[in-house]
Amino acid sequence: MTENVFNIDEKILNHAKQAEAECKEMFEKIDEVAEFNGQKVLKAFIDNRVSDSCLKGTTGYGYDDLGRDTLDKVYAQAFGGQDAIVRHNFVNGTHALSTALFGVLRTGNTMLAMTGKPYDTLEEVIGIRGEKGKGSLKDFGINYVQADLINDKYPNYKKIEELSKNVKVAYIQRSRGYSLRPSLSIEVIEKMIKTAKKANPDVIVMVDNCYGEFVEKQEPLSVGADLIIGSLIKNPGGAIASTGGYICGRADLVEMCADRLTCVGMGKEVGCSLNQSREMFLGYFLAPQVVASALKTAVFACRFFEKLGFETLPKSDETRTDIISSILLENEENLTAFCQGIQKGSPVDSYVSPEAWDMPGYESKVIMAAGAFTMGASIELSADAPIRPPFAAWLQGGITYPTGKTGVMVAAQEMYNRGLINF
Ligand SMILES: *Cc1c(COP(=O)(O)O)cnc(C)c1O
Repeated sequence: MTENVFNIDEKILNHAKQAEAECKEMFEKIDEVAEFNGQKVLKAFIDNRVSDSCLKGTTGYGYDDLGRDTLDKVYAQAFGGQDAIVRHNFVNGTHALSTALFGVLRTGNTMLAMTGKPYDTLEEVIGIRGEKGKGSLKDFGINYVQADLINDKYPNYKKIEELSKNVKVAYIQRSRGYSLRPSLSIEVIEKMIKTAKKANPDVIVMVDNCYGEFVEKQEPLSVGADLIIGSLIKNPGGAIASTGGYICGRADLVEMCADRLTCVGMGKEVGCSLNQSREMFLGYFLAPQVVASALKTAVFACRFFEKLGFETLPKSDETRTDIISSILLENEENLTAFCQGIQKGSPVDSYVSPEAWDMPGYESKVIMAAGAFTMGASIELSADAPIRPPFAAWLQGGITYPTGKTGVMVAAQEMYNRGLINF
């Protein structure tokens, strides 16, 4: 008999047991991908001779920083790029994406977003929102065009073909982010890239890879992307990296981005690693398994709530291409109880109770549950929910599956205690 440490109601435990049994096939697929990606990463460590001295940091200018330079090579090999720049100096994913856009685009160029409007925080970078004169791409004379997804779901290949002809950069957002649209599979990404490159062989394809790393066996670089960009407090940091981001892909483009991050002419040669190297290496090594845990937590949560009659995106048995799920909880009471329950089942700050608040930049109140070791890390179990129909909780992360599953059960218990769900 297993001990019921959290005093979860028997009915919830039984429901969870059934839900978990029904996830078996999905879990097997997730494990298979994780094993393959884990081997890819291990091989990259071995081939690039990661050594004890790589784990030690540098200070000052950071010339000849062996750890930093080796980590770039490890990322490049495992992600299928020629080169990479992996740095704690990237303050978040938006900063890495912004660096890549400013690094590659020049006055008079045009950027095409192939997957509709990009992630919220990029709107001000591009200049489609916010004050004039702050230094957006638009302020520097860089134009922007957009190919919307059809029905918010499918790429508009005709439009992509038409618009690609005159653009410098064609941009793809792999993950759903915090919208209700589906995330894109590598297969669909490949088709979009082929369409754009057929129309314009010189186009540079940039992929916002946030939340997508290690979810599939291939990364977008293997199907023709020129640059991929992401955050280290999401998938590739493996919940160990304290901060940072990466840009990986074609060597000439990585160099342009490096010149933008530091200074023209210095690029990747400078930037000390302080004491960040060990955690960035260790996090990357663990990342395929941590992503698998987050995916299992997501599949379990979706199955659990589907069985109670709630809609989830994606469905529990759909093949995932990012770590995010939305659970449509139908009303504010459910949403609040769910998020407060997720917080209760977190390793850090479990005793605080999140409340909905007016977050700057959002039209409705937002409630967020995050009890993480790294502030704001969404590879750790977390939930965000704008208080508006369809009352969806965006759930992501879970460093280990057993604790992720427990978090979901504690959330269900919270809803059950308030008489919101029954079994
Ligand atoms: C997280 C994320 C980003 C970057 O967000 P930061 O909070 O700046 O790290 C960009 N695009 C997508 C799709 C994301 O999920």
